[in-house]
Amino acid sequence: MKYLAEFRNGEIAQRLAAEIRRMTTRRWAIMEVCGGQTHAIIRNGIDQLLPPEIELIHGPGCPVCVTPLEVIDKALAIAARPDVIFCSFGDMLRVPGSRHDLFRVKSEGGDVRVVYSPLDAVAIARDNPHKQVVFFGIGFETTAPANAMAVVVAKRQGLKNFSMLVSHVLVPPAIEAIMNSPSNRVQAFLAAGHVCSVMGYWQYPPLAEKYRAPIVVTGFEPLDILEGIRRAVRQLEAGAAYVENAYPRAVTFEGNQPAQRMLAEVFEPTDRAWRGIGVIPNSGWRLRDAYRAFDAEARFDVADIRAQEPPICRSGDVLQGKIKPIECPAFGNPCTPRTPLGATMVSSEGACAAYYNYGRFARAG
Ligand code: SF4
Repeated sequence: MKYLAEFRNGEIAQRLAAEIRRMTTRRWAIMEVCGGQTHAIIRNGIDQLLPPEIELIHGPGCPVCVTPLEVIDKALAIAARPDVIFCSFGDMLRVPGSRHDLFRVKSEGGDVRVVYSPLDAVAIARDNPHKQVVFFGIGFETTAPANAMAVVVAKRQGLKNFSMLVSHVLVPPAIEAIMNSPSNRVQAFLAAGHVCSVMGYWQYPPLAEKYRAPIVVTGFEPLDILEGIRRAVRQLEAGAAYVENAYPRAVTFEGNQPAQRMLAEVFEPTDRAWRGIGVIPNSGWRLRDAYRAFDAEARFDVADIRAQEPPICRSGDVLQGKIKPIECPAFGNPCTPRTPLGATMVSSEGACAAYYNYGRFARAG
């Protein structure tokens, strides 16, 4: 299987792991920013190949996990309206709001539809002129260009019944927030390759320099991740702190410039709340004035909805790398993927789900 099998070669993985063991002289804490990388690490046992001195800290890069509870509650309020068709990617349907989730709204008669592209939601709006069609626009820089494109297409087509509930978040401000935290332990980052395939990595050198932390752009296959760790450890051991691209088959320094132009056309930076973490300045996008007519929050008057996290869930600490999922007292009982108490157990990229699904009950990391 071209481009996959080469990056899953067990012999090369063992060689890389041996090299990491050889070069490691002391304890290092490395954060993989993206939940997709967390799942690859746990699924492939990469953490168990590493010397005990290397701690992998799971980062906040799971779009479903960091979407704030009050945004979920706003989605639930909008989706329950009889005049609305609410469109979302499937993984948002089970994320618990304050009282229930989008599946419950659907089972109670709400028109909630799973789509595979925001452009599907635009098509639904075109086909249903007497309904309001709302798309749940969440995620990092990876999903944002397609969402921006959907808004542009809806505007070009003159659709008055399409809007988007926007809750986009950005990686570089999250890295800053983690490094500025008094309890931070992270010394190096594996940057998320798919985010960098859109944004490039021109934003990262000032961060690596400011926080004296190596940042290695890393893919998602086992060898990608081991190579990312190898390069991060090599820098840490040498006292270096710069940005390396270990994912050149998908990422360039400049990134996808047409996509970046599309984002800049539709969105502008704004402060955003991250679920379990709180507000991070300039860490998200909102629609620019020229596209504000497509803002579902304003259209449906849900801006005032406020919500409080259940105190039992420690997902904020998990997302900031302060604890491992199995250190949460609720992990496995009562919190499981079938009975999730927090988004990190619901999401296919959530760290709690990774530990549960791959049977990591006994290892505290
Ligand atoms: S195990 Fe469940 S309750 Fe604990 S942090 Fe994870 S999602 Fe929250």
